[in-house]
Parts: sequence; structure tokens; C-alpha cells
Amino acid sequence: MVSRLTLSYNNLKYLMSLSKDALPLECCALLVGETKIDSLTEAIVTDAISVRNVDRSSASFSIEPEELLNVYRLAEAKKLQVVGIFHSHPSHPVPSSTDQKYMRINPVAWLIYSTTAERFGAFIFEDSIRKVELQVMA
Ligand SMILES: [Zn+2]
Repeated sequence: MVSRLTLSYNNLKYLMSLSKDALPLECCALLVGETKIDSLTEAIVTDAISVRNVDRSSASFSIEPEELLNVYRLAEAKKLQVVGIFHSHPSHPVPSSTDQKYMRINPVAWLIYSTTAERFGAFIFEDSIRKVELQVMA
């Protein structure tokens, strides 16, 4: 399983500004990149692609299937994969019960930014919800 998620500082800054702009609603994005298997499995993000939160909610998000498919196609064209799902929380940076349900179906890294705590949390589902180490590149 993925135990480390690596993003550039610029990608993180971009996700933080998306989150703040979306307030009081949650926003979401897909993290495109590649998975490197070494002593540990690392997901390296090259692009963070903003997608609409069709729920328009401050407690949940969902992505339109067509928009999701477009991102998958874009990733494939670049020989990359969707390695993570990002969304913001106007609360704590931990997966909600709804998130946990969808994490089981989408066992990629889930990155959450809390606009209240102003920090990121990264998680993945494998048997249970586990923390993923977040590494920031310059
Ligand atoms: Zn959530």
C-alpha cells in the first residue's frame, strides 16, 4: 500500500488556495502522478486537478462521473495515474464517516486540508484507515 504521498510546495499552495476560495463549502481535486515502489510505496503527485464539488456542501463532496473520466483520460495520455483524491474540510483534517465509506471503494491516498486547523492530513484504506506520510518537495 502507499505509505508516502509526495507533493510539490506549489501543489500544496494551490490546494490551500482552492480550499479557502471554496469556503464555506468543501472543494475537491484529483492528484495525478505516479507510484514508485522502493523500500516503501510512494505516490508522487505531478498535477493537482481541481474538479467541481457537485454536492455544494460544507460536509461532503462528490465528483461528476464525466469530470472524473476526463481526468483519468488526461492522466492516461500523460502515462500517469490518479494517485490520490484531495478535498477540504471546514473542520478537522481527518476522514469523516462518509469519507471512510468511499475510501474503501477508492484505495488511493486521500489528502485532506483543514481550513480551520490550516493543516493537511493524508490517509489510505487498507484493512483499516491508515495514516500516510506527507512529503513536501521544494
Ligand atoms: Zn471529508
